[in-house]
Amino acid sequence: MTDRPQGLQIKVKGIVQGVGFRPFVYGLATQLHLTGWVRNSSSGVDILLNGPNEALQAFLDQLNTHPPALAKIDLITSSPFPAQNLSNFTILPSLVEDGQFVPISPDMSICADCQRELFDPSNHRFRYPFINCTNCGPRFSIIQDIPYDRPKTTMSGFKMCPVCEKEYHDPLNRRFHAQPIACDECGPQIWFEANGTRLADREEALQTARQWLRAGKIIAIKGIGGFHLACDASNDAAVIELRSRKKRSDKAFALMAFSREIIQNYCEVSPAEADFLNSPQHPIVLLEAKPNAALSPNAAPGQASLGFMLPYTPLHLLLLEPAADFPEVFVMTSGNSSEEPVAYTDADALHRLAGIADGFLMNNRPIHMRVDDSVFRIIENKPYPIRRSRGYAPDAVNLPLSVQPTLACGAELKNTFCLTRDQYAFISHHISDLENYETLASFESGIEHFKQLFRIDPQLIVADLHPDYLSTKYAQELALRTSLPLIQVQHQHAHLASCLADAGWSSLEPVIGLTFDGTGLGTDGVIWGGEVLIGGYAGFERRFHLSEAPLPGGEAAIRHPARIALAYLSHFGLE
Ligand SMILES: [Zn+2]
Ligand SMILES: [Zn+2]
Repeated sequence: MTDRPQGLQIKVKGIVQGVGFRPFVYGLATQLHLTGWVRNSSSGVDILLNGPNEALQAFLDQLNTHPPALAKIDLITSSPFPAQNLSNFTILPSLVEDGQFVPISPDMSICADCQRELFDPSNHRFRYPFINCTNCGPRFSIIQDIPYDRPKTTMSGFKMCPVCEKEYHDPLNRRFHAQPIACDECGPQIWFEANGTRLADREEALQTARQWLRAGKIIAIKGIGGFHLACDASNDAAVIELRSRKKRSDKAFALMAFSREIIQNYCEVSPAEADFLNSPQHPIVLLEAKPNAALSPNAAPGQASLGFMLPYTPLHLLLLEPAADFPEVFVMTSGNSSEEPVAYTDADALHRLAGIADGFLMNNRPIHMRVDDSVFRIIENKPYPIRRSRGYAPDAVNLPLSVQPTLACGAELKNTFCLTRDQYAFISHHISDLENYETLASFESGIEHFKQLFRIDPQLIVADLHPDYLSTKYAQELALRTSLPLIQVQHQHAHLASCLADAGWSSLEPVIGLTFDGTGLGTDGVIWGGEVLIGGYAGFERRFHLSEAPLPGGEAAIRHPARIALAYLSHFGLE
């Protein structure tokens, strides 16, 4: 009785496209001798299965417990379906449904399989700087629109060669429908240029960049979500020169080394930190510096910790590949002059970084969306984001409550914005400080891009209480123009509410919220800082707070917290 074929239809929602989901389903179904089909739709993945009940259950078990590495399943629904008389399992063309959306995978660092192939002389993609597969490579930074198919990415201009095309269409290949699939024959290429002259192509370009780096020069490198400025981190003169050209007086530079073993020569790396450095996101992790490490003292002046990341693209791996007399740690800082957003288009980089970089390692894969490196600190084995961007954006926070489509415009410094739909809160990549025209333009275009990608038509606008933030002014103008309601939220209350959402707090019961983070305009018109709030999503009461003290230099004190400490000491008559 139980062996009689039964039908089952399954719907999977979440990050299930562009992550090898259909080949996974295809492989699993054929392995279990199930017939039926799988297809992408505008809202997720649809599966229809026919077979004995036991095999159907085994399929569901595997789907729940061992989905593809980059998949992020939010919901699996299944229901019985009349058994169909099908002879095999197939992958059907995508179904386009109006107004629906699928969460998009962030950009992911090169996977172990691709890394092996990159350094395997017998492989078709040996030393190819843009090798990728369904488990790794660019996503968010190259997607122009949904559904996520190659024609709607910046890879649309590259026609696949027969080798790539065959892999792309083979359901059992790990590059099946890998939209950025490419090889040396058909894909993007690198070149090296300086002063407007193209000096070298392909492998020779890579070797030229390495020689220039070894010689202490500053190189602009086009990566996955923007340009980096790189130099030998052990070369003090090069680091000082970069600092002065970038007009970045004392902020620490991010560093990159080929392997964890090398990083351990410079920093203490706990097992949790090592795992996190090597996670699929490959963020910058702040690590405790070892004394007397052979680094330029100007890489991170006065800092007890260093921000290290591992190479996260094949290009970075090739560029940093260890060799005799080759430096082992590189400054890999954002490609901008201080305060400006990171350059990500070729023309912009060549223009804005001309006075900073001696040479440019370029490539012709366009970046559609700028994404900065993410920065984390590990505290008691748990990761805490300091900047949540590459590898994380545009991942959604799953809200404990369903909310109406909302645009939240964020604050002034280290801005991110957020758009919500159903139970998803799509938090943007790091936009940076909204203080100049370029950053504001990138804030505005980012909002438009998110609205388009996730098919969100906001019905409510939210802004900070502070009237002078550019994000508040933007929200007010937008509300006027669209007649949408605008809610202005007190800064520390917003911190409290976002912590609750992040923790999945679904109750309307009040909590005690300690928000000691920068400054924000209070409901009494005074700047607030360290607050103990009692409240929840809808409201709060200010129970305790640090006593008020003057902010020496006004806004400047926010950037130099030591000034605030001094003000408190003097306020209480201490010296
Ligand atoms: Zn891969
Ligand atoms: Zn190819």
